[in-house]
Amino acid sequence: MPSYETVIGLEIHVQLATRSKAFCADDASFGGAPNTHTSAISLAHPGTLPRLNEKAVEYALRLGLALGCDINLNSSFDRKNYFYADLPKGYQITQDQNPVCRGGQLTLNRPAPKTMRIHHIHLEEDAGKSLHDQDPQFSFIDLNRAGVPLLEIVTEPDLRSAEEAAACMEAIRHLVRWLGISDGNMEEGSLRCDVNVSVRETGDPAYGTRCEIKNINSMRFARRAIEFETARQIEILENGGRVEQETRGFDPAGGFTFSLREKEQAHDYRYFPEPDLPPVRIAPEMLEAVRAAMPPLPQVLEQEFQTVHQLPAHDTEQLVQDRQTAQYFQHLVSEGNPPAKLLANLVIHKLLPWAAENGLALADCPVQPAQWREFVRLIDSGKLSATAANQQLFPALLQQPGAAPGQLAESLQLLQSSDLDWLEKLADELLARYPDKAAEYRKGKKGLLGFFMGELMRASKGKADPKAATAVLVARLG
Ligand code: ADP
Ligand code: MG
Repeated sequence: MPSYETVIGLEIHVQLATRSKAFCADDASFGGAPNTHTSAISLAHPGTLPRLNEKAVEYALRLGLALGCDINLNSSFDRKNYFYADLPKGYQITQDQNPVCRGGQLTLNRPAPKTMRIHHIHLEEDAGKSLHDQDPQFSFIDLNRAGVPLLEIVTEPDLRSAEEAAACMEAIRHLVRWLGISDGNMEEGSLRCDVNVSVRETGDPAYGTRCEIKNINSMRFARRAIEFETARQIEILENGGRVEQETRGFDPAGGFTFSLREKEQAHDYRYFPEPDLPPVRIAPEMLEAVRAAMPPLPQVLEQEFQTVHQLPAHDTEQLVQDRQTAQYFQHLVSEGNPPAKLLANLVIHKLLPWAAENGLALADCPVQPAQWREFVRLIDSGKLSATAANQQLFPALLQQPGAAPGQLAESLQLLQSSDLDWLEKLADELLARYPDKAAEYRKGKKGLLGFFMGELMRASKGKADPKAATAVLVARLG
């Protein structure tokens, strides 16, 4: 049996976090009692006219700049005609011929580093929601979502596995949250995906025929749908059949895809330029203003953390998990050249869990960055063991957020000592207590140093500075 390769392209829909809808002032927020975020415009009453939400355009520019797209200063809207109960106008306003962004690329870190190409990004409006599970006899329609602005990110068919497809969705979710243009919440449908899948024999330069799986709203479903679809298409080919181009659905309970309809052709939608909206002319000044207000991108900060602060990729990935964390860390390392690795440990292993447990942001932490810098300096200088710092000083500081870490550690008797007289006294006591072991050490059993260190730390109740203690022991034993 020949080996096959899966080829995947995604059409990712991102709901924009604007306050109002794409073409009217209705509330665009999620939820609300059904059909309350609906004016005559959302309901498509005759004679109403759309008016473009400038914020939605700004958000499109942010994403386009972040993905290195060519920004189209002269885009325009088209009508995509189809009949569906949750589409009151009988058409969707979208960008078909002339999208706001073209090209661009996205770099994935997982499963292996890879740069994939973006085909284009266009603006459009969402449809309402049909609810089929509320009543045995009737379907219900909630038009609150009708007209909420979306960006559709269409990728090139550059993905080769379910893992890469999930990584791509994750990267987009991370980016739109970072840019503050969407909450990226998949459960609430703010991020959804159509997954295009084809297979071909490994090495074949031509793509196979693809199927489009509609409306996937979780990474796990995307993975399972791709795996199922890959196996299904391979089986067809192995049996000498041909994959039909079609639109399919995914059944999450059964884990299978099923045919919805033959793939429609563009002419089925009878696209034509939207006559009720003028073309979108983006002033160069607007583009420059958006560019100037862009936050530093996560990959740029990650690179900076690795090169300037010498942090491992495993840490930096966690530090750029969201913009707030990255900014907080930047602030921590910005002054006085504190040990960056210890600050990274503090943020990743102590502060982020603390924030999550308390439902707070890092910036809300009552202990100030200057205090955390002192906290890690105590560890770095050997005055405080990492264990005592994390297990005792950390919670104590949060209890007394005004305290100076050094003084607090002292009053809690946590400070380690490198006081030579004291260490030598402890070492001599040990040598007197274990003369046989000392003799063995002197005969060459150097591994016993660990035994003496353990005993010394115990005798000092963990307060001996390990470096100084080792030096004293080696001198006394040698
Ligand atoms: P259409 O306009 O008919 O929807 P496009 O060519 O714009 O088709 O592609 C839509 C999506 O399908 C894109 O994400 C693209 O990457 C993906 N795609 C195109 N060809 C293939 C293929 N042979 N296998 C998998 N995905 C594909
Ligand atoms: Mg399409």
